[in-house]
Amino acid sequence: MFDIIYYGDPILRKKAKAVSVFDGKLKNLVEEMVETMAQNDGVGLAAPQVGVSKRIVVIDATKGEVPPIVLINPEFTYVSKEVVEREEGCLSFPDIHLDIKRPEIVSVKAFDETGKEFHLEKAADLLARALQHEIDHIDGLLIIDHVSLLQRKMLSGKLKKISAMVPGEATGSGEAKAV
Ligand SMILES: [Zn+2]
Repeated sequence: MFDIIYYGDPILRKKAKAVSVFDGKLKNLVEEMVETMAQNDGVGLAAPQVGVSKRIVVIDATKGEVPPIVLINPEFTYVSKEVVEREEGCLSFPDIHLDIKRPEIVSVKAFDETGKEFHLEKAADLLARALQHEIDHIDGLLIIDHVSLLQRKMLSGKLKKISAMVPGEATGSGEAKAV
């Protein structure tokens, strides 16, 4: 299992590189990401959050009812004009929850870990939210980029604390909404 990288680590701000080789190494990495996501009660996890700057995302928006979705090199093919506000957390920001407005419906194309292309059409609700949050991660964007400067200012104390944390230090607070 990987340690989660927290806010303050520059890898979270890098645009991650596309995956070009679909081999056993990639499969192992994906497996370990899925395990790390489950252990941390996450809805999703992006590779930069475990210190790997590659365009890999895993999502479990069903609390383990169906196998997690693995998305390699994901791209949006549709983004709705309608926007909804929803509370979001992030495994890289322990104990921070923010109301964030994002498009309500999205479609995505991606590759699975074997290199097969697939499409997720018109995802809504938690899945749409997780897809946008995780794809943000591989572009170096974070939840604090979606709130006002004032809100960010109000968070500065908490953010300072998080950036001083060492990976693996967060205690499991049972937070099940973090991505
Ligand atoms: Zn996140």
